[in-house]
Amino acid sequence: MAKVDISSVAVVMAMRAEAAPLIASLGLVEPDDQPAQLPFRWYEGRHRGVSVIVAVNGVDPRYDVDGIGTNPAVLNSWLVIERRRPDVVVSAGTAGGFTSKGGEVGDLYLSSGDLVFHDHRIPIAGFSDYGVGHYPCADVDHLARRLDAKTGVVSTGNSLDAPDVDLDLMAVNDASLKDMEAAAVAWVCWLSGTPFFAVKVIADLVDGPADTVEEFKLNLTMATGRLSAALVELVPLLAEHGLD
Ligand code: SAH
Repeated sequence: MAKVDISSVAVVMAMRAEAAPLIASLGLVEPDDQPAQLPFRWYEGRHRGVSVIVAVNGVDPRYDVDGIGTNPAVLNSWLVIERRRPDVVVSAGTAGGFTSKGGEVGDLYLSSGDLVFHDHRIPIAGFSDYGVGHYPCADVDHLARRLDAKTGVVSTGNSLDAPDVDLDLMAVNDASLKDMEAAAVAWVCWLSGTPFFAVKVIADLVDGPADTVEEFKLNLTMATGRLSAALVELVPLLAEHGLD
């Protein structure tokens, strides 16, 4: 397959706390064309010759909390692609991991295989596959090796909990990670023909003994620190090696 050169990257993130260390590390600043009429907040700059925009889903104006989940992820991704035409879009954030897949809290993952949904069940002929999605992910194995990251399938849904029906579908889809945005961003990228992959750090274990919310809160700062360090390293690697 032809190599895709990368000179601009858009990183789409859900939570302000997830994005803050990266914005600080790269010294990114708010652009003049901040999408003011929408809750999204963008931060922009250059890192080692690459143009980087971190597009944060921002604060929901009705409920005053971070714009977690697929709806803000879709709209923010669409807007940043329309306005900036990035060479690649990265869905970055924390995720739930699986001990059954060898995952541990703090592990860095790059996505592999297709991006899928685990809570979009439509058992009508033709609609089942539509619900699962199967949106493409760029081949980033070469970058994962250089970052010493694991690779695995990311499965997305709009809930933080994991009822059995969702767990069953995650198993069918061979998921190593559970998040609430990646497949939604991947759908927009597929529609617009923009290369896509996800970078996630495990903050909690879906099949572990701890309560998900407590484990997530406990590990959020550590996980976002690791995520930021990985992205700072990843940007120049993308420029140097491109995407296959
Ligand atoms: N109570 C938390 C809610 C975090 S929601 C708070 O507001 O502080 C979890 C966010 O992190 C989502 O953006 C999702 O993509 C990611 N995430 C982390 N662990 C997850 C899990 N086990 N399941 C789904 N998403 C998870």
